[in-house]
Amino acid sequence: MERARWDDALYAAFRAKDARFDGRFFVGISTTGVYCRPICRARQARPEHCTFFSSAAEAEQAGYRPCLLCRPELAPGNAPVDAGSALARKAARLLEENCGSGQSLKEIAARLGCTDRHLRRVFLEEYHVTPVRYLQTAVCCWRRIC
Ligand SMILES: [Zn+2]
Repeated sequence: MERARWDDALYAAFRAKDARFDGRFFVGISTTGVYCRPICRARQARPEHCTFFSSAAEAEQAGYRPCLLCRPELAPGNAPVDAGSALARKAARLLEENCGSGQSLKEIAARLGCTDRHLRRVFLEEYHVTPVRYLQTAVCCWRRIC
């Protein structure tokens, strides 16, 4: 009973792709033989196909292979699935550094090697606001009054 309730909570976190649980547990999916991090965007398995592990090693021992998208066997931050949020964080830093210099989002995107449309999308995903909105509320703006 306890076990079942715990699994329900983990499954809910997996469904929600709750980043707070990233690295805290791993999900083995019996239909594919692959295990994932809770934030993985690739899979959404039914609860009866999910087995939860507290470490990647445990999942491998149970016979699961690491997912190629979220790379649960790597340190968080090194997987393709993390690329978007890493980009958003870099952009946020650039925005803060260049606050008030009138640099456009296009220029910042170009510096990061992507398009402004792509940047806006990953930014929204990471911060739930647009880059412009973020800039308006960024701490630097309080200081420099831009
Ligand atoms: Zn995955």
